[in-house]
Amino acid sequence: MTAPGLPEHTARKAWPAGRAFAVVGGIFGCLFLTLLFLLAVDQRQVLEGSQRLQDKTIPTTLEQFRLARNVEQLRLEGERVFSGPTPVARQQALFIVSLLASHPAMLADARTAALAREVEGFLARAARQGMSEQSYAEWLMLSNRLSLLADDVSIAGVNLATDDLRQMSSTMVHSRFKLAVVLALVAAFVGVVLFLIHRHLIRPLQVMDEALLALRSGQPMKPFPAASMVEIGAVEGAIGQLRQSMHDNEQARQQLVLLATTDDLTGMFNRRHFTVLAEEELKRAHRYGRPVCIGMADLDNFKQINDRYGHAVGDLVLQSVAELFARTLRQSDWAGRYGGEEFAFLFSETGIDEAYRLAERLRQRLAASPIEVAEEVCLPITLSVGLADASGGSLASALKRADAALYDAKRQGRNRVVVATATGELRTGRFKAADREGGQRPG
Ligand code: GH3
Ligand code: MG
Ligand code: MG
Repeated sequence: MTAPGLPEHTARKAWPAGRAFAVVGGIFGCLFLTLLFLLAVDQRQVLEGSQRLQDKTIPTTLEQFRLARNVEQLRLEGERVFSGPTPVARQQALFIVSLLASHPAMLADARTAALAREVEGFLARAARQGMSEQSYAEWLMLSNRLSLLADDVSIAGVNLATDDLRQMSSTMVHSRFKLAVVLALVAAFVGVVLFLIHRHLIRPLQVMDEALLALRSGQPMKPFPAASMVEIGAVEGAIGQLRQSMHDNEQARQQLVLLATTDDLTGMFNRRHFTVLAEEELKRAHRYGRPVCIGMADLDNFKQINDRYGHAVGDLVLQSVAELFARTLRQSDWAGRYGGEEFAFLFSETGIDEAYRLAERLRQRLAASPIEVAEEVCLPITLSVGLADASGGSLASALKRADAALYDAKRQGRNRVVVATATGELRTGRFKAADREGGQRPG
């Protein structure tokens, strides 16, 4: 059986949280590792480039610069061979020219080696034959070629470094892009994980919290939405079972309370529960100085009914009498089955005169309503009642005085209400004149 308001599950495939997060983590992990690998390749390329720059390109570039300088120097010394102030200075310049032309760096490059040899030969010839305007014009052409060659050599050196730097810079641009993709992936991963945690863990936990709150306050629980996580589904299932067993327990408890407080034949309060309630009501009335009365009633000659019609008919009469009490008494009055065919009453906020009037109404109604126990068999039932004012003193003493008044009612001939005085004396004689219907009114 399912308790009302019990959350139910829509059947849907659910994932264990661990596996779900492992799949998401695996996918992102693969992408992440691939990009990291590519980044590592780029980084290696940059490192190799910088190493190459340091070990080879820069020294080569420096050598190119040095060679360009030597070529330039060769041109300047050649110029001095023509324009030196003294023959000795011109001779010296020629000597430096032949030194520069035979320098290993100059010889290592085919273009510089060829031009240097040509320059050296031309200058040696010009020095031997004497300087003429024509040889100077030839020299100017050679000087131009030397200048151009020096520029070419410098530019070749610069180009070497530039190529390497360009390659490194392009690798770094790619790396930057890959790094941005890695960061975006990490952000997406964190976002997806947070979304999954919120949607499939935190939100269901909030719903469970609301359900537990509802459970605690006894309100009906809303059904749980289908859980995506096996573990959440299991906890929700456990909450459902808890709700079910709380519902079962509550029903069992109510059943127990009913069994412990009522009489199962008539449904009236049993003696023990009536006594507990009456004790509390008397305490309350005494504390606030409010009037309260206790009554004891007993069916007249009930044994004869049992003897004549059987115990089952007697039971039926007891049930009918209980129903009549329930119909006649006010909501604030309490009645309990005190013994076999004996009943106890508590009239709260009621003085003895009003209690007498209520008891009398009860007696008269019963006397005027024969109980139908079989087809065309109606039994006249009467009731004797003893009343006691309980505004002071204990419940036991009030019950005792009411019981004595009841005994007196029986003694006086039954079917009447007798009121006990506060001292326990029965004021039977004084009310005789008013006893037209069998009851006695307090004066
Ligand atoms: P009185 O007017 O003096 O009270 O006479 P009475 O016959 O009512 O009193 P008595 O005490 O002699 O008999 C009470 C009878 O009530 C005895 C018992 O069999 C019967 N009785 C007690 N409890 C039940 C019950 O639960 N069902 C039925 N059918 N009878 C019960
Ligand atoms: Mg009786
Ligand atoms: Mg009795």
